[in-house]
Amino acid sequence: MANELTHSPEFLRLGIDMDGVLADFNAGWIDRYNQGFDKQLRHTDVVQWDGLHELTHFTTMEAFWEWFQQGGRSIFRDLPVYPDSIETIERLARDHRVVIVSSKFDWAIPDTLEWLAEHRVTAREIHFVHDKTAVACDVYLEDAPYHLQSLVEKRPDATVCRMVRPWNVPVPGTVDVESWGQFADLVDSLAEHAPGRRVRPTGDCAR
Ligand SMILES: [Mg+2]
Repeated sequence: MANELTHSPEFLRLGIDMDGVLADFNAGWIDRYNQGFDKQLRHTDVVQWDGLHELTHFTTMEAFWEWFQQGGRSIFRDLPVYPDSIETIERLARDHRVVIVSSKFDWAIPDTLEWLAEHRVTAREIHFVHDKTAVACDVYLEDAPYHLQSLVEKRPDATVCRMVRPWNVPVPGTVDVESWGQFADLVDSLAEHAPGRRVRPTGDCAR
């Protein structure tokens, strides 16, 4: 009897960013900040990419990140998930290769791996890289303006999706995605028009 896992095809490599796409970075730190310092920041206060610390009493981003680490368990460990994200990834992973492509500080990596495990993210690859163009994918889902720009430039054959957020703006060459449902529909459409794509390497078996 054939081993379904060994022989099931994967159509597309989906490069998925984490913060701002899968994990609600801004809601996570703002809630913790309000609790810790008795402030009333709103999640909607973040409307630009740079200068997050300017919303706080911290005078530099270095001071912000130092607070963020919180000793042995950083705020990255407890970020909330965006609605529908985990369920959509699970569904897409049945037909495609889910590839987490995330920029992280070294100190954030253990907490991030625990977060992915806790939320049972069905990714077969996890990459922590500063240059996301180094990880080849067919489709990218990303919210950071500078990553979107470089993906468009260096991965011209890929479909680069901008997860539309208040802190980013349209980037020429990207496809705007407003929700995880819309992203899944786009992937379905791309797969339909790219029959025969197979990316699972031989020898990749269920053990
Ligand atoms: Mg991001």
